[in-house]
Amino acid sequence: MKKLFSLLLLFCAIQLAAQTKDPKDTEVWEPEPRVVTPGTMGSPPSDAIVLFDGKNFDEWITVGKDTKPGWKLEGGVMTVAKGAGDIATKRSFGDCQLHVEFRTAAVVEGEGQGRSNSGVFLQSRYEVQVLDNYKNRTYSNGQAGSIYKQSIPLVNACRPPGEWQTYDILYTAPRFNADGIRVAAGRITVIHNGIVVQHNVEIQGTSEYIGLPKNIAHGNAPIVLQDHGNPVSYRNIWIREL
Ligand code: MG
Repeated sequence: MKKLFSLLLLFCAIQLAAQTKDPKDTEVWEPEPRVVTPGTMGSPPSDAIVLFDGKNFDEWITVGKDTKPGWKLEGGVMTVAKGAGDIATKRSFGDCQLHVEFRTAAVVEGEGQGRSNSGVFLQSRYEVQVLDNYKNRTYSNGQAGSIYKQSIPLVNACRPPGEWQTYDILYTAPRFNADGIRVAAGRITVIHNGIVVQHNVEIQGTSEYIGLPKNIAHGNAPIVLQDHGNPVSYRNIWIREL
């Protein structure tokens, strides 16, 4: 009994010693996060890489060719020209924060997947679907804000046709070991017009129209915008590497 009592006393003493009395003991001062100046409404923050500011295609090429994109560039806006092909950034990226503004066609044409279809591909492989799903039904895992054929958006946050919309994407690239085996899946958060539609979702693999996602080892890769034959427009695209 006496032994038990002394053990209990010892336990209480340890607990008391472990308790800190000074709030400063749990303050962490280093490292200090660096200062980044936020953009004014609609402009990039101070440390972003501007991929498109409406002036030129300097940061872009046509996928599969080494040529300047054949998309239309007018009034600070680029628009898919049917058949001109997907376009890709000249630079390659991995983990990132990506901001994209897009506008679906004001003149409504087509239905389902045929209405203002485009897409933002992370690392050229993983598609965040761009589509006009304002009063336009399609399969849920293929609508705007979906990780195409993998993850249904939490809500439908589409604005009406012809209005500018935003995607803010937080992306963690998948990891592969030296043998080319995927050891960690990619992860993605998508905020559509200020509304979370994908929340830290695990990416199953490449976006495939037919069949299952694939996981072949890769490194950093360009951001790709899709030419799906519909006149979707883009502006103000910037990226911050994480
Ligand atoms: Mg698409």
